[in-house]
Amino acid sequence: MSEQKNLIGLSREELAGEMAAIGEKPFRTKQLWHWMYNQGVTDFQAMSTLAKPLRDKLSELYVVRRPELSRVQTSVDGTRKWLLRFFDGNEAETVYIPEEDRGAVCVSSQVGCTLTCKFCHTGTQLLVRNLTAGEIVGQFMTARDSYEEWPSPSDGGRMISNIVLMGMGEPLFNYDNVAKALKIIMDGEGIAVSKRRITLSTSGVVPMIRRCGEELGVNLAVSLHAVTDEIRDRIMPINKKYPLAELMQALRDYPTNNARRITFEYIMLKGVNDSPADARRLIKLIDGIPAKFNLIPFNKWPGAEFECSDMRDIRHFSDLLFDAGYSAPIRQPRGTDILAACGQLKSDSERIRCSRLKARLEDGIVDDQHPLPVA
Ligand code: SAH
Ligand code: SF4
Repeated sequence: MSEQKNLIGLSREELAGEMAAIGEKPFRTKQLWHWMYNQGVTDFQAMSTLAKPLRDKLSELYVVRRPELSRVQTSVDGTRKWLLRFFDGNEAETVYIPEEDRGAVCVSSQVGCTLTCKFCHTGTQLLVRNLTAGEIVGQFMTARDSYEEWPSPSDGGRMISNIVLMGMGEPLFNYDNVAKALKIIMDGEGIAVSKRRITLSTSGVVPMIRRCGEELGVNLAVSLHAVTDEIRDRIMPINKKYPLAELMQALRDYPTNNARRITFEYIMLKGVNDSPADARRLIKLIDGIPAKFNLIPFNKWPGAEFECSDMRDIRHFSDLLFDAGYSAPIRQPRGTDILAACGQLKSDSERIRCSRLKARLEDGIVDDQHPLPVA
């Protein structure tokens, strides 16, 4: 491994600190930032506004590096999946989902996940580690490289217009790195994706939802998936720590307006959460929250204990929500031929099965304030 430091993932302040440490003027930070994040340049020698001696010095000390590409697959429907390998050999997946006139990159926040939602393939792989800010930004930049979308287009005409944090992991258990990465991505002089085009999906980490709203103000999606504590406890263990009433209160407090609603993701599980009575309870539960729904047909994976609801029942569920005044589209499964669909991402990284980790998970929550023991 090289000794040079990767500049991708440093905040602006940290980059300024590096420039000061090597005796460069503060305006160099702005120039470098522009080359790295607006132009997408990875070779210091191509940074033509920098004098040759400085380019040489930077090349000696630093790199501008993406994660290594382990595998790229493109689905017949245009969905593309990158398996990325990080410096320590761990891997995570990033997916591009094209829409009619734009597209979203679905980014992972962790290798694996500490939560063990019963319907989620990622959840069968215990957490290996949090991704760093550089690794999170690097996923997005890799997607941009792949579609040759540099320099950052000012607006319109881009394939990659949106970012969703819906890949592997629970982003709010890796809040510090996710927040740092999103601030880099939102910076107007670099990648410049607006917070209106970023959606963070959470299983419901109540204390961090407030911070996310105050500090980042991105769109929030919540993996709800059940309307009673009894069922949610069973399929999403985090509900035992943060039950529905607390979750709903945090969502009522989240900064929203009519144009910026909270998205409720709801997996349709046959005979578990898909009855008309569930739909009616759902409408009651979210009363007063500016909301829209995303009904997700369950993507089955080998060994899963659930079946997807019948399409007729999903449509009926959607109609009931629609009649109550909510948008409730049924998500089209994408990239199924390359296993890129929701909840199917799972790396081949070695699983951690140490007893200390298991005990910590049973005790409660592992997040970036209470990190994992080193395996
Ligand atoms: N940890 C975060 C973000 C990643 S999961 C969260 O849970 O929100 C992204 C979405 O995929 C979540 O809504 C999750 O519930 C859903 N999902 C997980 N497994 C799935 C499956 N097998 N079929 C369909 N959706 C699934
Ligand atoms: Fe983790 Fe989200 Fe999967 Fe639950 S649904 S196990 S929180 S990635």
